[in-house]
Amino acid sequence: MQQGELISAIATAPGESGIGIIRISGKGAVDLAKRCFVPFSGKNISEYAPRQAVYGKVTGIDGQLIDEAICIIMPAPHSYTCEDVVEIQSHGGSVALREILELTYKLGARAAERGEFTKRAFLNGRLDLTQAQAVMDVIQAPTKASLKLATGHLSGHFSGKIREMRNDILALIAHLEASIDFPEDDIEDVAISETKAKAAELQGKIQKMLKSAHTGKILREGLKTAIIGKPNAGKSSIMNLLLREQRAIVTDVAGTTRDSIEETVNIGGVPLVLIDTAGIRETDDVVEKIGVERAKEYIDKASLILAVFDSSRRLDHEDEEIAELIRGNQVIALLNKSDLQAETSCDDVNALLASQNASDESIDNNLGISTIQVSAANGEGLEALEKAIQDIAYEGNNQEETADFVNDSRQAELLRQAEEFLQTATDTIESGMSEDFIVIDLRSAWEKLGEITGETVGEDIIDQIFKNFCLGK
Ligand code: GDP
Repeated sequence: MQQGELISAIATAPGESGIGIIRISGKGAVDLAKRCFVPFSGKNISEYAPRQAVYGKVTGIDGQLIDEAICIIMPAPHSYTCEDVVEIQSHGGSVALREILELTYKLGARAAERGEFTKRAFLNGRLDLTQAQAVMDVIQAPTKASLKLATGHLSGHFSGKIREMRNDILALIAHLEASIDFPEDDIEDVAISETKAKAAELQGKIQKMLKSAHTGKILREGLKTAIIGKPNAGKSSIMNLLLREQRAIVTDVAGTTRDSIEETVNIGGVPLVLIDTAGIRETDDVVEKIGVERAKEYIDKASLILAVFDSSRRLDHEDEEIAELIRGNQVIALLNKSDLQAETSCDDVNALLASQNASDESIDNNLGISTIQVSAANGEGLEALEKAIQDIAYEGNNQEETADFVNDSRQAELLRQAEEFLQTATDTIESGMSEDFIVIDLRSAWEKLGEITGETVGEDIIDQIFKNFCLGK
């Protein structure tokens, strides 16, 4: 196994913590450990068995103690990167970690680039590209369902499916080539009918996978959601209810301005990214205060609108204005304040939204608007809301099959292209062209699938993918 340049990075999150880990990989890693780590036993670190945790101290060039630590040497190829890897587990103070990192630089390592450890694991064949991509998804998974998707990819379950399809295609190619080489045997007809049947079967499989891409994207990136409604309808109460009921606030991303704060909540396993939560808290009337244009922009940013109506008041022109604004969007209408005497019913809201949708013929009236009675005051209707959100996120995909979902747009695009080549192969057969042409189409499909797992992918794409990783991974 060829070892790359010596690289090092802090692998744990910044801030104070119990321990922090510095990871070093590449040619000379073991030597570096020998020069900066002294076991308390008095032995040399290289005398220990591979992967044994050794207690000792990290000392600087001048012999000064930097910190006490555990050092583990993982010789190639049995390490994360398949290279010699050293992990130094020190106390998790940022100064201690920085000092040790600086020391590794002085001893010949250079700063690892984003995702460089995982990139090496990929280049050395330990992980395929889908698995490597999944490493980051596991780290960033916002909900349990997202984690299930990510681990399905990391474990190789997803790439196994891709590889199976590639093997099927390869077998077809082999048969067709045999029929080209031995035209006197009558394997030709068999190979062609086999190709037609198999191509259709594979297309079916790919179409099913593509259907899951929508859900995969939501589980990975979250469903961007805007809460819209007239003043006092209960927008911020609903938002607070969602924030309270969720199992954990997973992110709290503050944008550059106060009004672009987004919070992610876990609703029935679906990560809901609530857009502009600061705006909802502080603004009484979205439309009046920020203007119709801004409100439209806000709605455009969302994939799901939670439209809040006040059931204790009659629908009025403000509600109509809201209904007009959200026309054509994926909407869940919440008829709030179900604990109070009702002045407005679900039917009234449905009628309002239907009339708004019907007034624009270009819009699909079946965009699935569901109206749910809720009470932000006592939590009534929350389960129904959770179910409605799950229905939108899973859109007919089986939750049990989460590990198989396509989870990124690059994969989806490649699957789409592979499916097209399979269709072309069938068309080529139909038009009576020779086997050589069918083989060309099949080979293209095979290559497209290979780009998903990274077997046939360009360096630029690889660089692009690992650029999005965090440092130290
Ligand atoms: P926003 O202006 O749309 O954000 O509305 P708020 O969330 O500030 O709510 C307006 C008022 O309605 C507040 O006094 C809330 O306490 C009250 N409210 C909100 N939701 C409910 C509810 O489900 N039941 C009752 N009884 N009051 C509610």
